[in-house]
Amino acid sequence: MKTIAMVKKVTAIPSRRPRGGSKASGPKKRGPGRESEEALRARALEIVRRLYRAYPDARCALQHRSALELLVATILSAQCTDARVNLVTRELFQKYRGAEDYAKAPLPELEEAIRSTGFFRAKAKSIKSCCQEICERHGGQVPSTLEELTRLRGVGRKTANVILGNAFGVPGIVVDTHVKRLAGRLGLTRNQDPVKIEFDLMPVIPRKDWTYFSHALIFHGRRICKARKPDCPKCPLAEVCPSRV
Ligand code: SF4
Repeated sequence: MKTIAMVKKVTAIPSRRPRGGSKASGPKKRGPGRESEEALRARALEIVRRLYRAYPDARCALQHRSALELLVATILSAQCTDARVNLVTRELFQKYRGAEDYAKAPLPELEEAIRSTGFFRAKAKSIKSCCQEICERHGGQVPSTLEELTRLRGVGRKTANVILGNAFGVPGIVVDTHVKRLAGRLGLTRNQDPVKIEFDLMPVIPRKDWTYFSHALIFHGRRICKARKPDCPKCPLAEVCPSRV
């Protein structure tokens, strides 16, 4: 009986468009429709469950062996495919082993090494200055807190959460373009700003699942819920998605 009640609860999807009108009292409403906090949490849990079933192996696609390598790869991944980044870092990580190597590298040399990832001048500058700060302030070791990471030049919350979740095992929600799009379609946020989206997701997704959830949504966004044409008929989340067509 409990299972049936839960399925009923999580499949009671709110209408995509908020309805105006009644100011009746009752459970606190949020989300894109008239969904209660309780119903939203139950639906979010069901989304996580379904993602685990659909993508049990979802994980960071950037190859790395250390927090520093992941930091460099994440900076390179802006506006570039993971496959291209992995191709470039295979050689890059052979040549540059520690933060000091990047900090001391002549900028033109670094630019040349990462040229094919695009925006190579800005990326080279970010990597170099970020590594200089790591050497000056953290003895050459990538720091392991959100505060310290986001204080590094060129490191925002997204990059910091990637590092925390995948190099230090500290749960973090990474809001990239896929997570942003899917969180909206799934009715988990009404915001467009990545930081606000992160704060909308944090209370409804169990903390232990934050890192996995980000990877799984990215997998799902690449395979099924694509930007231009979401494949709703094939979607394992369709029953709990207010945007299904
Ligand atoms: S049902 Fe459609 S819109 Fe909703 S998550 Fe699946 S593919 Fe995306």
